[in-house]
Parts: sequence; structure tokens; C-alpha cells
Amino acid sequence: MIFYNAHQTEDKILDYNIFLGAILHDIGKFYMRTENSEAKTTISREYDVFFKEAGKHAPRHEDWGAYYVQQILPERFKKEILKDVTNLVLHHHKPSSYSQYLISVADKISASVDRKDIEEDDTSADKSKYLISILSQICLDKNEKNSRKTYYKNLTKRYEIKYPTDSFNSNARNDYQNLWEDFSKKALILKNKFEKSLNGIHFDLEEYVSAIYNLIRIYTYNIPSAFYYSKPDISLWAHSKSTAAIAFCLDRQLKKEFSQENERVRVLESINTKILSGRGSSIKKGEFPYFCLVKGDISGIQDFVFDTKMDGALKALKAKSFYISFLLDTVARFILKKENMPICNLIFNGGGHFYLLMPAYFAEKVEDYQKEIDKLLFKAHRGSISILLETDIVDLYDFSGNFGDCFDRVSSKIYRKKISKFRNVIENQELKFFEPYEDYEQKCPHCHRALRPKEDDPDFCPFCESFVEFGEKLMKSDFIKESWGEQIEFSDFKNIEDIFEAFGRKIEFSNYSEKVINPVNNTIVIDRNRLEKLLEKNNNLENRKKSDDKFEIDFYEALDISTHAPFKDENNLKTIDEISNSSKGIKTWGIVRGDVDNLGKIFKEGLGKDSSISRVMTLSEEFSLFFGYYFNRLVSEQQSNIVVIYAGGDDFCILGQWDVLPHTAHKIYTEFRSFSCHNPDITLSMGFEIAPDKKYPIYRVAIVCGEHLDKAKEYQREDGRKKDCFAFGGNFVGWEDYEDVEKLKEAITDLIGSKNVSKALINGIYAVCNLKKMTQTQEEIFKSWRFVYFMARLKERYKKYSKDLEDVLQKIIDKKSNSLYKHSYLAARWAELELRR
Ligand SMILES: [Zn+2]
Repeated sequence: MIFYNAHQTEDKILDYNIFLGAILHDIGKFYMRTENSEAKTTISREYDVFFKEAGKHAPRHEDWGAYYVQQILPERFKKEILKDVTNLVLHHHKPSSYSQYLISVADKISASVDRKDIEEDDTSADKSKYLISILSQICLDKNEKNSRKTYYKNLTKRYEIKYPTDSFNSNARNDYQNLWEDFSKKALILKNKFEKSLNGIHFDLEEYVSAIYNLIRIYTYNIPSAFYYSKPDISLWAHSKSTAAIAFCLDRQLKKEFSQENERVRVLESINTKILSGRGSSIKKGEFPYFCLVKGDISGIQDFVFDTKMDGALKALKAKSFYISFLLDTVARFILKKENMPICNLIFNGGGHFYLLMPAYFAEKVEDYQKEIDKLLFKAHRGSISILLETDIVDLYDFSGNFGDCFDRVSSKIYRKKISKFRNVIENQELKFFEPYEDYEQKCPHCHRALRPKEDDPDFCPFCESFVEFGEKLMKSDFIKESWGEQIEFSDFKNIEDIFEAFGRKIEFSNYSEKVINPVNNTIVIDRNRLEKLLEKNNNLENRKKSDDKFEIDFYEALDISTHAPFKDENNLKTIDEISNSSKGIKTWGIVRGDVDNLGKIFKEGLGKDSSISRVMTLSEEFSLFFGYYFNRLVSEQQSNIVVIYAGGDDFCILGQWDVLPHTAHKIYTEFRSFSCHNPDITLSMGFEIAPDKKYPIYRVAIVCGEHLDKAKEYQREDGRKKDCFAFGGNFVGWEDYEDVEKLKEAITDLIGSKNVSKALINGIYAVCNLKKMTQTQEEIFKSWRFVYFMARLKERYKKYSKDLEDVLQKIIDKKSNSLYKHSYLAARWAELELRR
């Protein structure tokens, strides 16, 4: 959804024009790079007045864009309600009306104000037509400026993930043609669909605009916004989206300050002049403070998510972690809807927080929203979860390359606010902390509501049970259908859905069916990876359907969070018991938690001097894509019994059969490293722990796992390099050592498990590890010969495998330096657990 049908018809039409104008303003860049000669001839003929007037000899991207917009807008939209869009695209470098000025100025602000306005043409080098992966450009070492190797992204759509490479296809035109063909085919299907429905009375502008927005998001994600920068590492998507967000802030703030349109135009003109003449450098702090950045931050996640009873724990865990991110999403959209702002102003959502770009006047309203959110969440969770809002004014100076600083300012405000959490609720006389629910004799230990004992379940709590049901629906459904309406007052919340309704968002789950095509504007795809597979299967079964009537996944919004879970059969999920029993060795489960190292620093310092809003957005979407869609795909491709408890933003938590988890963790790590161009400053640490038995509370393992993760962040190598570590139980393995440990473990399990060598081998390794420890504390010389002698006897006993045993010995003892391999104990312990019956 774009506007949630929030406002009156008259404003609405202007808003949709501005929205589409901003989102499509640079679409001509995409089209132009296809070098389609037929189109070029037509555009040269139809638009020659415009580009010649600008002193050019060939059509510019504005001309290509305007021409294309004419092609794809449904007829009636084009002539009536959306008649400005084409002009907005055509004149975004030479504005003359209010809305043209809005987009023109927003375009410049988005691109960090100072930039050279050089028109690209056919002669531009192919190299510059590929997007440089922003992840390859991050540098945290100030002395190492510009020494990062450049990696280029493939010209694919958002969800076709290929690793960036240091070389690129030298035929950019072909790549652009392929991607364009795919994109324009879909835009045409959309046009036809609406043309048809326009013959009837019913049409929904919201639906059309939502589909365009989603298409642009998918198809311009890996395209550089411009190649006239020194380094084209900003995606066209991030540039278009931020242009729209800025345009709406300008519009709302200027309308508040000036009643006359000509006054508003004058202000926009002066910003325009300022940017063009000053090249950004003359802009001073405090000039044009028309914006504010809002951060929403949720706290209490860990306790809330893992504090769950064992019956139906997996479903409840999934539901709760989903609830956390969906609640944030709901609050963000709730604000946007009430403020009449479009969805593009939600500039980031993931990893427990969101950011909104809003008009400056909104800063005054933040406390009112905070009060309302506090009241609702206190009623729902009695203080265990809270969302804090903070804001800071953003001016033109901030946009000119200092946007990272804005994130920093709101984040430190949030930090200060955390200390005075729930102040509002305590002050509010209607909601005391000692309300009657404290008096219930039998209250639920998790949510503190009154229990409703059942015959088979004396601890039955309807509210907590609603999470189990919600989790089940979540994992089995393809879509969430939402509708926004009036907020509903509840005396208490009976289930999880009530809480969303209190914000005005009503949700339902539904599944894919060929007969019913869900409307684009109120349908959200839950797990795009799973739905893609389902569609693929269906397409193979039945290929005769006309493409116009087909379900087109790219029109829909998809969640950037992972929800993968293993199924027993079509309808039933695997239980913790079944997951545990599928393990090799001890029949139990384990948990891996991980997050990106130095994330705050990456955003704050990693982008160097040029941190424009669109660069920051390009970067944050890369992390979202990896930990959302791609993470889901990765885990499901492992074909193991692994549940994604949560993943999104920059962190994740998975639970599964313990034996496959270390390998999966390593797989996630190597994929992440390839995705982030092997940049030494973008690494991932993880903590892993095994449940002592399968009935053990998930909560406790998850907490220990979190502690391991914290310690992994303190891990330091001899050369001083920190983090980038896998905390395997209490053992800290730098990722560079992981494969060696795994190989040693494999060698041991192979000898004992397949070749029937005595388990004494493992005890022998433990003994040598203990000996090493003792010699360290007593400052003696390490007597490695004892283990060498022990191994010699084993080799004698198992002559057939003496070569394998010698290999193990050589891995464990370095004879030259008389030293013990540092991860010997871990490898032996790991093997022992895998071999246990
Ligand atoms: Zn409860």
C-alpha cells in the first residue's frame, strides 16, 4: 500500500502524481542504456523540441523516461487523473510548476546535493553502467582510504542474487536489454490489466501505484542511479525512493508554512539555486530545516520472544519474533497513515528499529504518538515490550553528505530515552502499575493475564495460546491480507490480532490459489522464496493460462524477514522432538545466533565523507536483502531440520538439529562474505550452543547462545584483529580456522564411526589437551611424546588405517614446534557428540 486510501480525493490525485513522478523520474536512464535504436528514433522525433531547447542533439534520459511513461500508463489514467506524471518526468531538470519543482529539488537533495549534472550518452564506458556494490566500498580504517577493491553487481532483478564480481560483462547493452525486456513486459501486463478494469466502473489507483512501486523496487535495485559520480554505488531504486520521500516532506512542510503556491515555488527555487550555484559547499548548518528523521526502536525483544512455554514453543517463538517486526512495521505505517504520508517515507525497517523521514513539523507530534504507543503496548505486554520514538530536525546541510550523522543523533537520543522508559505510563493516572491483574491468583507467568485452566491444560492462557495459533498460520500461509480502518478500543487484548487492530490494521492469512487473485494493494507475500517455488511447480503443471490473468509475484510487496520452517508433510510442521531425533549422535537441538560485526560503525564511518541519504539506503537494503529473502533461501536449501526463529535487518537466530548447525553457520558465513565482496570490514560473528537434552527450555539455550555471541565479539587474534568469530559452545574459533576444525572432527568420526577404531582415540586427545593445560599452569615443558606414543600404539593396532591415524596425529601435534593444535579439544568433543548413541 502507498497511502492506505487515507485522504480526500482532491489531494489524493496530486499526491499520486507526485509519487509516480518521483518514483519514475529517472526511469529513462534504465531505458536509455538499452540503446534501443527503434525507440531512439521515435523519441528523437517526438521529443526533439525538448532536447534541442536544452541544447542537446539526442534525447536525454528525461525524454526517454517521458516517452516510456506515456507507453505504460493506462489510457484513462494518462488523460485524466495521472496527467501530470509525464511532465514531471520530462521536466525534472528544468522545472516550471510547483510539483515539477518539488521533484527537481528532491532529486538533487537525494543525490547529496553536490553533484555534476553531466548527461550520459552511448559513448560512456560499459564499466560505468554497472552498479558498484556499496559493500565493497566500506572502509573503517581511516588510513586506508580508497584502497578497497571495486566489485560490480550483476544487472539482475532484486531477488536474483548473484555475487558481485571484480570483473563485469563487457556488453552492458545486452544486459540492460534483457532486464528491460523483462521489466517492460510486466509493466505492460499491468497496463492491460487496468485498461480492462477501467472499462468497468471499478478501478483502484492505490492498487495500480502499489504495483508500479513494487516493480520499480525489484527492477532498479541493481542499476546505478547515475554514472556521472566518481563511483556509481547508489542504486536507482534508493535514489528514486528517497527522491519521493524528500518531495513529500517538502510538500507537507511548505504547505504548512505557506498558504500560497507561488510562495512555495519561491522557496523551492531558492533551494534549487543554492544547490546549483554552491555545489553544496556553501550550505550552512540550519538552512532549510524542513525535515525530521524519526527512529522507532523496540526493546525487550529477547525476554519477550524466548519466554514461552514448551508446548507449541516453536510456533510461539516464530509468532513472537514475527510479531516484533510486524509490530514495528504497524507502528511505522500507523504514523504514516495518520500523517498522510506515503510508504516511501519509511526509509528503513529491520533489526528491531525503523526510520521515517518526515516533515519538520512532525517533530512536535512525536511525544503524542509516544504516549499513545506506550498506552497500547503497556496494556498488551505489561511493560515487557516498548517502542521508543525519537526525532531530530534535518536540514539541507545534513543532506549534503552528512546524513550518517543524523542517524547517529536520533540513536543517541533513543539511548537516553531508554533510561526513562515508560515514564509516560507511570505518569498517566488511568494506567497504574498495580492494576487488578496483579491480584489474579492464577496468572500466566509469561503475559501476566488470568489463566483459564482447561481439563488437559491447567496452565492454559488464551492470550499466549494465540501466539501458537498465529505462528502456525504464519508458517502455513502465503499471504497476509491487510486492511486499515478505524482504531479499535479494547479493554484488554484477547489475542495478537487485537493489538494490530488497536492501531487500525486488520490482518488475515490466506493462501495462493489460481482462481482468486488477491488485490495488489492489500496483500503482502510472507515468504517470497517459498511462494516462488510453489509458483514454479504450478507453472510446470499448467502452462496454458494467458499471461494477463496469471498471478504476478513482482507486483506484490514481500516481507524482508525470514520465516522458514521444516514441514513433516504438506500440512504439519515438525516438532522439536522430531527435529532433535533427526540429529546424528545425541538426539537434541541447538541454536545459532549471529549478527554483523561493527554495524553501527559501518553506517557511521564506513561510507566516508559522502554519506547521502540514498547511499545509506542503498547500504541498509543490502543487509535487509541478505538477512531477509536470501537467508530464507539459504536455510531452506540446506534441506535440514532448521527453523528460522528470526532473521532480518542485520541479525538472526536459528534452531535446528544440532549436528548440521555448525556447517550451516559456516555456509551462512561464507555466503555473507561473498555477498559483501570479502570486505575485511564487513564480517559476521555467531554463537552456537547445544541443548543438554531435547526437553531443555529454549529460553536458557538462547540466552547462553547470546552470551557466546557477545564474547565472540571480544575475540582477538595474535595480530590484533578482532571479532569475525564463531563461538562454538565456549570455544572461540576465528572463521579462518573453521574448516580445519571441521576436517579434524570429520577425520576422527570417520575413524571411529566408519572404520571401527576404538573410542580411546577421543580419550587420548582429551588427555593430551589436559596435559597441555597442566604444563601451562605449572610452567613445564609440554610432553607431546606421550600422545605420539599413544598414537603409535593405535597405528600398530589398526594397521590398515595407520595413514589416517598419522594424519590426525599430524593435525594435533606440530612436531617441529612441539605444540598442540589449539582446537584439538573442540574437534574431539564435537566428534564425541556426533558418535554418541
Ligand atoms: Zn499468557
